[in-house]
Amino acid sequence: MKRIKIFAPATVANLSCGFDVLGCCLDTVGDEMIISLSSEPGVRITKIEGADLPLETKKNVAGVAVEALLKDYEGAIGIEIEIYKKIKAGSGIGSSAASSAGAVWAVNHLLDHPFSAHKLVEFAMEGEKLASGNAHADNVAPALLGGFTLVRSYDPLDVIKLHTPKDLVMTVIHPQIEVKTSDARSVIKQNVTLKQAIHQWGNVGGLVTGLFTEDYELIGRSLEDVIIEPMRSILIPEFKNVKKVAIAKGALGCGISGSGPSIFALSKGMDTAKKVAEAIKEVYTKTGLDFDIHISKINNDGIKIIN
Ligand code: ADP
Repeated sequence: MKRIKIFAPATVANLSCGFDVLGCCLDTVGDEMIISLSSEPGVRITKIEGADLPLETKKNVAGVAVEALLKDYEGAIGIEIEIYKKIKAGSGIGSSAASSAGAVWAVNHLLDHPFSAHKLVEFAMEGEKLASGNAHADNVAPALLGGFTLVRSYDPLDVIKLHTPKDLVMTVIHPQIEVKTSDARSVIKQNVTLKQAIHQWGNVGGLVTGLFTEDYELIGRSLEDVIIEPMRSILIPEFKNVKKVAIAKGALGCGISGSGPSIFALSKGMDTAKKVAEAIKEVYTKTGLDFDIHISKINNDGIKIIN
């Protein structure tokens, strides 16, 4: 039986100003999956370790994403999926995206690459639709393409890989409270003012330019969200204090990771990222809540084969 074991990375979506369109891929945090071709047609989730998630194909994002791929593939194929979860569901660092993107990437590899990475984004989005009711691509795109990605358009889908300045390091705190993407979406008002929109698209342009020109100051100035963060941050304990200490310790910017409750801070260099982590840890220790802190470089390759 042909099989591969992969690393399916966590991702940070939105990046403050880019709600639903920007995301980036982490290096040291992610799930593992074993995907096998089988002689019995159909998609089966045979094992899940590390999380209480459905084995039923149609209820698991990995199963749904692979079924979407097989619909476009000629031939009766059998796929078996084992998921070793390290990213907690509902963490805001792309737990569902890691499974959807990882599964379709691995199947495409086992089938000798009939689909482009951009096409895989479309299949993986079907998994995201199951997880949150909305087929967003801001986590699955960076997981599949690596680095930073921009969804320029959803209809038609147009995903662009951006440049990754080499000194960027992400610090992420995950408070162990669950904020469901669907709940985090329900607190968002559906209308924005023209003034807010102008502010926000100025920052998206600034951030993209900052990434391509490796202008760390510009990246920092652009990591600002005047639309979503004021509404969503109320769901995250100590958000304001975490942001304050992260910036005080030298982070370029700090915001909500995906739909929360994780908070990300982007820094130039590992030393600063570690100092930021220490300061955030101090804030959170006082809350009595359990939390994880991750420090990770940006993963420019995305999903990869491991042994
Ligand atoms: P995150 O932002 O961390 O991806 P979401 O809330 O978007 O978290 O997705 C988690 C939801 O998706 C949960 O309701 C979970 O039960 C569901 N889900 C289904 N299959 C998976 C999977 N393989 N991995 C993670 N979540 C899954």
